[in-house]
Amino acid sequence: MTDWRNISFWMTQQDEPLTPRPALQHDLDVDIAIIGAGYTGMWSAYYLKQQQPSLRIAILEAEMAGFGASGRNGGWVIGGLLGEERMLARLPEAERHDMHAVLQDIPDEIGRVVAKEEIACDFRKGGVLYCAARYPEQEARMRQWLKTLHSLGYTEADYHWLNPSELAAQLRVDRAFGALFSPHVATIQPASLARGLARTLEKLGVQIFEQTRVTGWQTGQVTTAAATVRAEWVIPAVEGYAASLPPLGKYQLPVQSLMIATEPLPASVWAEIGLDRGQAFGESSRQVTYGQRSNDDRMIFGARGGYRFGGQLRTDFNLSEDEVGLRRYLMGEMFPILKNVTITHRWGGNLGMARRFQPHMLCDRQQRIALSGGYGGEGVAATNLGGRTLADLILGNDTRLTRQPWVLGDKPVRSLAKWEPEPLRWLGYNSIIRSFVHEDQTLANPHTPAWRRKMAMALARRMESLMC
Ligand SMILES: Cc1cc2nc3c(=O)[nH]c(=O)nc-3n(C[C@H](O)[C@H](O)[C@H](O)COP(=O)(O)OP(=O)(O)OC[C@H]3O[C@@H](n4cnc5c(N)ncnc54)[C@H](O)[C@@H]3O)c2cc1C
Repeated sequence: MTDWRNISFWMTQQDEPLTPRPALQHDLDVDIAIIGAGYTGMWSAYYLKQQQPSLRIAILEAEMAGFGASGRNGGWVIGGLLGEERMLARLPEAERHDMHAVLQDIPDEIGRVVAKEEIACDFRKGGVLYCAARYPEQEARMRQWLKTLHSLGYTEADYHWLNPSELAAQLRVDRAFGALFSPHVATIQPASLARGLARTLEKLGVQIFEQTRVTGWQTGQVTTAAATVRAEWVIPAVEGYAASLPPLGKYQLPVQSLMIATEPLPASVWAEIGLDRGQAFGESSRQVTYGQRSNDDRMIFGARGGYRFGGQLRTDFNLSEDEVGLRRYLMGEMFPILKNVTITHRWGGNLGMARRFQPHMLCDRQQRIALSGGYGGEGVAATNLGGRTLADLILGNDTRLTRQPWVLGDKPVRSLAKWEPEPLRWLGYNSIIRSFVHEDQTLANPHTPAWRRKMAMALARRMESLMC
């Protein structure tokens, strides 16, 4: 039996008893069957119900609502998408503005819904600080990124540079070179959003069956060990768990991200650090770090994890001392005052990575299957967009959401880009990550000669370009 409460620090904060909802024991006829009670499945149900309250919707969840990445993540609600710059670069200038507007509105849309539905999830829109914190090359990279963003139509109001003293007004980072700031990011308590969404859906008449693992799916039908659900539409919303629903595992790989939480820190420590209005922050290396201050004054800090051969899911997230040590080191480099702080929680989760390193949304009207996924580590907001988009696609509404570049429209699932077979995936993915780690270690050492710094960066850039 899963220890639900300890799957993440965020779950330990839930007031409810976390008793699973009843499993599905009998056959069922519905309009929409959704597999997975993470944000994707639940936002899809929410927006379908908003548009057509009479729809009969059932969600079948293998464990418990919020068990997956949705109950474990870093809580960054990003008004953007993985691969956004590449998608923008391919668009005519006239259409870029519309894409910016759609993406930047996502945190506000989530803010509106949690206010309307009274979901207490600590939603705060304090923006994000991508800090150049550990070596000077981070500043050059962030400034280059800023230039790219501006060349793609974003303005100074969307993204701007903060010099060290401007950054210090929000966040005091040791030896900082500055930071790129954007106001289009909010933070949340992720598990509270997931659990709150599940309760909201039940009030709207959506049936949620927990401890109900789907073992087979096809057009018009979903099967579990105990029952068959006949449905007009099927939405597989399992993201990092795609391998459990063949053939989805060919298109979405499970990769891990890992996190730590400190003990609650006293006001004197926060007076030194800052972060007093819900800002998200990271330290801009390719280690993909992300942090926020929790509602009970802990520092929450995460970084990219790994990929397991054969796309095996990681189930044990009792992180090793090395995994905790890397996160403690990265956090301590930014905030020396936290170097010896007590780490009270360690956890992680599986997330889905698509071959093109950008999300996809599609709706196969012939097979009556709708799918949104491949968010990488940027799915908290993207799932909301996915839910709204799938609702429009299924109900046949031609809207500004359904015309965006990540929407593949009326296409079969097999039109998604496939991952290479093993061992190519493992070798490819891990070589890229190795080059990132090598770059980071080389640059973090102030004694590394300039030529080696340049070589490490060139290699990592080259590997990054192979991703797409
Ligand atoms: C540690 C970590 C930190 C992250 N931080 C951030 C962040 O700060 N910001 C951000 O934007 N994104 C972040 N992400 C990514 C983000 O959390 C995900 O993209 C998002 O939650 C995906 O939601 P989902 O509903 O698609 O998938 P999930 O939340 O994973 O839900 C899938 C559900 O499907 C269920 N399931 C699987 N197989 C079956 C089956 N056969 N039958 C029935 N049910 C099944 C699972 O139990 C699970 O509940 C992070 C992810 C992780 C792991």
